[in-house]
Amino acid sequence: MSRHTAPNYAPLAVTLVSGDGAWVVDEDGRRYLDCLSAYSALNFGHRHPRLVAAAHAQLERLTLTSRAFGNDQLDPFCAELAELCGKEMVLPMNTGAEGVETAIKAARRWGALVKGVPRDHAEIVVCDGNFHGRTTTIVGFSSDPDARDGFGPFAPGFVRVPFGDAAALRAAINEHTVAFLFEPVQGEAGVIVPQAGYLSDVRRACNDAGILMIADEIQSGLARTGRTFACDHESVTPDMYILGKALGGGIVPLSAVVADGDVLGLLTAGTHGSTFGGNPFACAVGREVIAMLRTGEYQERAARLGGDLAGSLGALVGRGARATRVHGLWAGIDVADPAVPARRICEMLLDRGVLARDAHEHTVRLAPPIVIAERDLAFAVEQLGDVLDLATRSVAVA
Ligand code: PLP
Repeated sequence: MSRHTAPNYAPLAVTLVSGDGAWVVDEDGRRYLDCLSAYSALNFGHRHPRLVAAAHAQLERLTLTSRAFGNDQLDPFCAELAELCGKEMVLPMNTGAEGVETAIKAARRWGALVKGVPRDHAEIVVCDGNFHGRTTTIVGFSSDPDARDGFGPFAPGFVRVPFGDAAALRAAINEHTVAFLFEPVQGEAGVIVPQAGYLSDVRRACNDAGILMIADEIQSGLARTGRTFACDHESVTPDMYILGKALGGGIVPLSAVVADGDVLGLLTAGTHGSTFGGNPFACAVGREVIAMLRTGEYQERAARLGGDLAGSLGALVGRGARATRVHGLWAGIDVADPAVPARRICEMLLDRGVLARDAHEHTVRLAPPIVIAERDLAFAVEQLGDVLDLATRSVAVA
């Protein structure tokens, strides 16, 4: 990175110039298999022809209006996304963090206007190990010291409970609680999948207490886990979905909060907004994403390839991996040897033409585009197996 680029990331040493499907090419013409998919923003791969065509068509017509005026893509986008989610209303934003901020505002407003929580006293329960973005409000309720250090003071009104523990959620709820905000699968924490039954227990706890269940499906949603939403695995419907990443087809930042009118209807004119949110370019791409998801083929493919992945990664346990967690086409692999950082594994994979990233110190995360070919997925796992083996042996020798 140049000295002009702020050092808020530590990327692997590769500079990409083009991409197609699951493959990308660097400035020296070397090909790599993308097994990260921009943290699931590229669920449909690089430059999917349907998405590129939708983007081109809209580029030729209209790209930005601001919300001062209407545009002909916004209402159809909202209607189509609402239908996909089984909800009444959509509020479009741009980044995931903005979607989360929007959900927090909507929940607090609902608490004040509907539930009767005294103004400025609303509490939202969140989880240890959460990752919901990087704004000051959001990092304020993170349990990751690196995310918080030096960025306070933070907004009050958040209470943390262990992830996967519905009893702890129930115990944390009081008369000021308006919502439970959580990831159905904690991606950044290392693809942590809660025990079966957790999502239903959360739904019941929220119902019993009369609070909103807010599922941040920014990373877990839109086919990644083999269903449209991770919540679908337990047939649970949250009160609010927060979506992002793949919603923009890997082309534009596009996020959205999706809920019923009794919640989102409270964000009246002047109470919330974004210059770029709901722009016709992003909405046109988002509409194509929704059309692709409606067929169910990507969900089915993620489930099928995920089954293969679970089998092949499982075989690495005891051979350099301590544990693996797979949910759809999404995996966290814990490196067995504590002396081998996951980043080292990712650097070795890079040398072999596979792009993956560490999630915390000892976990390698895989989230390839759902369009990845079976043989390419097998190649990635083979390389990972070799690298885990090699890294573990070289540490033993040293
Ligand atoms: N929520 C979850 C679950 C995420 O994984 C992320 C990003 O990784 C975000 C929110 C923040 O999204 P963005 O980086 O687009 O602000």
